[in-house]
Amino acid sequence: MNILVINAGSSSLKYQLYDMTTESVLAKGRVERIGMESSILTHEVEGRADVREVSEILEHTTAVRKVLDMLTHRSFGVLESIGDIQAVGHRIVHGGESFKESVLIDADVKLEIRNLFDLAPLHNPAHMMGIQAVEANLPDVPQAVVFDTAFHQTMPATSYLYAIPKVFYRKHKVRRYGFHGTSHDYVSKQAAAFLGRPLEELKIISCHIGNGASCTAILHGKSYDTSMGMTPLEGLMMGSRSGDLDPAIVPFAINKEDLTLNEVNSMLNKHSGLMAVSGISSDMREVVEAMESGDENARLAFEMYAYRIRKYIGSYAAAMNGVDVILFTAGVGENSAVLRKRVCEGLTFLGLDFDEERNELRSSETRSITRDGSAVNVLVVPTNEELLIARDTYRLVIGKE
Ligand code: AMP
Repeated sequence: MNILVINAGSSSLKYQLYDMTTESVLAKGRVERIGMESSILTHEVEGRADVREVSEILEHTTAVRKVLDMLTHRSFGVLESIGDIQAVGHRIVHGGESFKESVLIDADVKLEIRNLFDLAPLHNPAHMMGIQAVEANLPDVPQAVVFDTAFHQTMPATSYLYAIPKVFYRKHKVRRYGFHGTSHDYVSKQAAAFLGRPLEELKIISCHIGNGASCTAILHGKSYDTSMGMTPLEGLMMGSRSGDLDPAIVPFAINKEDLTLNEVNSMLNKHSGLMAVSGISSDMREVVEAMESGDENARLAFEMYAYRIRKYIGSYAAAMNGVDVILFTAGVGENSAVLRKRVCEGLTFLGLDFDEERNELRSSETRSITRDGSAVNVLVVPTNEELLIARDTYRLVIGKE
């Protein structure tokens, strides 16, 4: 069975086509600048040169059609016809409290995703455009939706409630939802498989450290607490997001700098984090480079970033009364040995015996970076959200047949 995985944003659409008999990626790519004159489609097939096509793509239905044309193209394609796509899986950022797991799309599901637009105004409407674009191009193909929030629906109220008047939760569903759930779910299963231990026995702290970053306490296979909140702004310091801060700073900033609420929102989401503290970049590679050539602001940004991850690890070890596995994943977590080292240096009190040589090894496989016998296993686990979306879609479609 071939499954097309789609991640639709407001002006972009990423895709990966999976052959589920081998779980291999037949092709992947992205359409950028949707809605502009010179939209760009980049198409990649392993072993072949990348294809880059510039054309006018004004909306998502055309974007999906262009992707399908490319997948079936005589020279660049990998399929005989679009009839060779048996199902489509979509990444959806916000599933609110309605979606505790992945589901096949029907009219009720679409209505509920619409009802959640308020909670994720930047993401869910774009995902809906992706769903409708697939419907228009592949009307008979089943579609599934996989939610970033669903994995965290197991959190207890002690973790997900904010200590504010209840009316906000009752009327407006203000609570912690958490994100990167597909990734935390996938990497925790990979970690258990790597260690050859049942997931249900483990206390795992999963650190998804990419441009967006979150830590999750996974107790016996279920999300127990996570650092992102009602939106992805809360928690760790990120590339351009502030993470945790005193909420009183918001009215203070509005008063002192004569800012609007939208401007403060944009400041906290787009102009804070590594970017603001380093004054150089939101990209950890550039911050580390500057730090290594002696830039003090870059050093401070790096130190704050690592310190906050360590604080969350400490608090989640306390929350679960212990930790067996700490894992690092995503762009920074998988690639930055210096960041992993800095975080782990302060965790020897947990019995963690860090292995500097293993930490420096580069590999695309799951690996341990602690010495054999360490009381806590620290792993680097490459994430693969698209594969999990493809797997969930496959399971749902097969289950229906
Ligand atoms: P993601 O959001 O998971 O795609 O991660 C993207 C981020 O990973 C980029 O913004 C970079 O900061 C970071 N990244 C990628 N490679 C490296 C590396 N070798 N060292 C440090 N950070 C990296």
